[in-house]
Amino acid sequence: MAESAKKIKKIGVLTSGGDAPGMNAAVRSVARYAIRRGVEVMGIYEGYKGLMNGKNYIKKFNARDVSNIIDEGGTILYSARCTEFRERAGVEQAANICRELGIDGLITIGGDGTFRGAYDLSTMFGIPCIGIPGTIDNDITASDYSIGYDTAMNTTMGLIDKLRDTCESHARCNVVEVMGRNAGYIALYSAVAVGATAVAVKERPFDEDAAIKKLIQCREAGKRNFIVVVSEGANLNAEEFAKKIEAVTGTGHHEKAIETKFARFAHVVRGGSPSLRDRVTAAKMGVAAVDLLLAGRTNMFMCERRDNIIGTDIMQAIYTDRKYKASFDPDIAKKFDPSEGDKFGPEVLAEVDALIAERKAEIDYILGLSENTSNYRNIE
Ligand code: ATP
Repeated sequence: MAESAKKIKKIGVLTSGGDAPGMNAAVRSVARYAIRRGVEVMGIYEGYKGLMNGKNYIKKFNARDVSNIIDEGGTILYSARCTEFRERAGVEQAANICRELGIDGLITIGGDGTFRGAYDLSTMFGIPCIGIPGTIDNDITASDYSIGYDTAMNTTMGLIDKLRDTCESHARCNVVEVMGRNAGYIALYSAVAVGATAVAVKERPFDEDAAIKKLIQCREAGKRNFIVVVSEGANLNAEEFAKKIEAVTGTGHHEKAIETKFARFAHVVRGGSPSLRDRVTAAKMGVAAVDLLLAGRTNMFMCERRDNIIGTDIMQAIYTDRKYKASFDPDIAKKFDPSEGDKFGPEVLAEVDALIAERKAEIDYILGLSENTSNYRNIE
């Protein structure tokens, strides 16, 4: 595990990548606890863009500067996608700003892109970095949980519930595309929670004809409302699938026709006040991240594993993520080189494989749960 030698007296905190409810609670946790430990805290606005540009984007935080943000959605530090930071020159510019301002270490809140940036900053230029996962999609394989995920799932569930009401009144189907470019968790769990008839995710093939057959069978058994949940990243055009349901079942008012609408929630689920779980996880991870940074650790990010908050090596986490996603994403599979694992010892590799097996089992379990609780037919 990488360690930095220098005593940490001043840290910076930033949010980067897609925003997520609970990022503010994490910023608050980091700032309050670091100040309590006698460390100066600098809030860095607009992610790595702010870090590269310095001064006007960086402000000293006292404990009151993070007051009244624990329940706020979005991020008071704002976020930005910064392409310059992907280049060595951009990373060097950011490292120089840290040195100029006496920032001894950073806590970066965001997704895997944010952690790659932190990795570059620490390995190329020696700025210690600890990451906190903040992304609604829960798409960081190494962690069971990322801040924002619970709120986003509950928002998604609430919105689908409303569609379900009107579907029941009008005996309709609604195909709903939900967030999740690289992971189907929001789709899977919200499908179970709303009693969806079918769910399509990137992680598994989706049988369109079988899903339509199931809709027809359920309609014959008297079911009026139907919800089909499609994850944003699934290999299925949700809007076209809605049209296909109508084309196959027949439009008009005869009994078998299933009138089908399409809805896409998109970014609306990124907003809103964070749930209890997101706020509490933010508090835990913020404190743990400061502890690691002050203990001289770098290049790690906070993970939740079976209810424990632990620090994981960023490179190991990125390898876990790529190996897992290569198993179902053809674009990642094309670029994934298994020899990337050669830098790790057998114990780490076994840990990676065990975690991947756990993730796959979870997907199968939730898909099975959805099927077993939304089907009117006997198991054949
Ligand atoms: P989300 O998963 O919510 O999209 P993210 O953190 O993965 O969050 P990205 O846009 O991928 O979001 O990354 C945030 C920022 O991190 C980028 O704008 C860029 O500045 C930096 N970054 C991303 N990838 C890299 C990389 N490979 N090397 C260096 N920096 C990177």
